[in-house]
Formats: sequence, structure tokens, C-alpha cells
Amino acid sequence: MTHSVTLIRGDGIGPEVAKATQTAIDATGVRIDWTVVDAGVDVMETYGTPLPDHVLEAIRSTKTAIKGPITTPVGSGFRSVNVAIRKELDLYANLRPAKSIEGVKSAFKNVDLVIVRENTEDLYAGIEFQTGTPEAEQALEYLANLSKKKIVPHSAIGVKPISDMGSRRIVKFAFDYAQANGRKKVTAVHKANIMKFTDGLFLEVAKDVAKGYPNIEFDDRIVDNMCMQLMQKPELYDVLVLPNLYGDIVSDLCAGMIGGLGVAPGGNFGTDIAVFEAIHGSAPKYAGQNKVNPTALILSGVMMLRHLEEIEAADRLQKAVEEVIYEGTSVTYDLAKSGVSPVGTQEMAEAIAKKLS
Ligand code: NAD
Repeated sequence: MTHSVTLIRGDGIGPEVAKATQTAIDATGVRIDWTVVDAGVDVMETYGTPLPDHVLEAIRSTKTAIKGPITTPVGSGFRSVNVAIRKELDLYANLRPAKSIEGVKSAFKNVDLVIVRENTEDLYAGIEFQTGTPEAEQALEYLANLSKKKIVPHSAIGVKPISDMGSRRIVKFAFDYAQANGRKKVTAVHKANIMKFTDGLFLEVAKDVAKGYPNIEFDDRIVDNMCMQLMQKPELYDVLVLPNLYGDIVSDLCAGMIGGLGVAPGGNFGTDIAVFEAIHGSAPKYAGQNKVNPTALILSGVMMLRHLEEIEAADRLQKAVEEVIYEGTSVTYDLAKSGVSPVGTQEMAEAIAKKLS
């Protein structure tokens, strides 16, 4: 069977890690019909936008995409392309596994966590009012009257919408993932002791959804305590499900626990579309140098192969990545041990591909 996949090359280091990922995925022998498109700062001049319509159309048509990182232009009036793709396609679930790889330097060993982050709601909904603007003043007056609470004059205001629908579908996603992947436990992470109505709703919904999965253990943790517990006894946790903001922070924390951004993969899921991407950004200072680590996007490719139900190929690719890192002779600068010369992005991908031939 041939799978149709959109490859969005991104900008900065995006095209390099995208090419390396294509090399590694193609080496598995899985037949992929790639639609290669560009988005990001490099296409703004040509299309007048960093996210041309044909990119979204390509993703809608293939339903599966893998994407290099994209710079968020500062002060240009364009919002983040990454956030825009998630919003336009309603990719409500962000899945970020954090699994230790032998040979990657880290203070932690045997980490095996899965972070499920809500992608569309919470303080990231983009409802914010700048200090001193008429909108902010109006919102302040309205909210002070409504809540009967004092708000410091001229405050900036952000809104944190959390819905039953949004919470239900993300918690359900976490339990379905746990069930499909032989995971034992789901932990809902929140701050419901302080944010009783927003995080409180998230927690209540999580408890309700959990009742439908009697074979999977469920518990919950307050986010600050969760961070401490992850530092002290990560082995007690399995799948974590979090609202958007905490999910963003805790997933980077967990990426740090497995050795950093260079090895941390991810995927965004909607009801019938999935877009896979590394957690890291476009690292502009390294662009065009064939220097950065392609592992994070290649492992996002492993997640993609699993999504396409190419399980055996996914397992082989993951093993090939792990072997190349363990051997340590064909790895990029961030993984190279002292005394070993690092190789470039594409050379590391080719070493991985060679393991598959
Ligand atoms: P970044 O992740 O791009 O880079 C931070 C540092 O991490 C780099 O300087 C480098 O030292 C290291 N690093 C990142 N990726 C690496 C890799 N593959 N191999 C080795 N080292 C790596 O973060 P930033 O500098 O905060 O962001 C740069 C741009 O990327 C910003 O415009 C940001 O908005 C954007 N961004 C995009 C995405 C995305 O496309 N999903 C995600 C995060 C940030």
C-alpha cells in the first residue's frame, strides 16, 4: 500500500531535518507518495503569508503530514504558523512521548512518559487585551463588576477558556492512547485547587471520562507537585493529560529529562488529520549548516509510521535510531562524546538509513 503524506519543510533548520527524515523513512521501504510543500518566513515574499492556502489544502487532502519547524516572525503581524495549522485543522491533541535513549546524556535514566497536551483552549486561545487599550479598560470594568473583585487599574487581561467538550475529547484521547498502547495509568494534571472553575471543570471531566476505562488506573496531580514528582520519581507516572499551558511547560520539562530538544518527537491529532513535528523550533542560528540533530523529527516519523499502521517499519526505524545513537560514531555535535568527531544532519540520517538496508 502507498501512503500519501504531506511534507512541510519549514524554515531555519527545517529543510535540513525534513530531508534527513525523508531519507530515514524512505529507507524503511514503506511506500510513501510525498507532497512536498513550503511554509514559513522563506515563502512570505512569494505568497504574502507564511501559511499559503495550498499548504493547508495539501494536509487536508493527504490527512497525514510531517513538518519541519517554522519560525514565528516577530512584529510582522503574522501569528505563529504552528498554532495556525493546529487551529485551522482543529488538531486538538498534542502527543509528546518522552522516552530515554541509551547514549543520550541526561540526569535521568529509563524515563518512559507520554504527555498529552490539549492544543486549542486555555490561555493559548489568543484572547488577550493589551494594557491601556479601550478593549482592556472595557474588559477590566466589566470583569470587576461581574466578579466583585478589585483588579489593578490598567492591567493587561488574558482569558482562559476551558470547555467540557475540549476537556472531554483530550482526556478521552489520552485514555484511548493508553489503551491502544498497553499503558497502565493516566494522570490528569491541573491547578483545580486555585482555578476551581476552569481547571476544576477539566478535572471533573477527567474523572468522569476515567469511569469509562476501568482497566486503566486514573489519578490526578496539581501541576506544581507534578513537576516535583517528575524530578523525584518519574517511574510512578505513565500517560499525563494536561490543559494547554501546563502541557506546553511539562512536555519541555520531560524533553529535558530525556536529553533535550534534539531527541524529543511529537504529533498533533484531530479527528481525521495528524501532523507530526519535533518539539524543537527552527534554531535559525544553525540554519543551512547541516549541523543539527535530525533525531527528533525522525522519531516523529516513527510516530507517523505507527499512525499509518506500519508498525513493523516503525519499530525497525526506532531501533535503527537507537543503535546509531548508542554506537555514537555517526551522531551530530549535541550527541557526540568527547574525542569523537560529530557528523552532519544528513550523514546521521544516512547512517540510520544504512541500518535499515
Ligand atoms: P529552538 O528549539 O529553535 O532552538 C533553541 C536551541 O535548542 C538551539 O539554539 C539549539 O541550541 C537547540 N536545538 C534546537 N533544535 C535542535 C536540534 N534539532 N539539534 C540540536 N540542537 C537543537 O528554539 P527557539 O530559538 O526558542 O525558537 C526559534 C524559532 O522557532 C522561533 O521563531 C520559535 O517561535 C520557533 N519554534 C517553532 C516551533 C515549531 O515549528 N513547532 C517550535 C518551537 C519554536
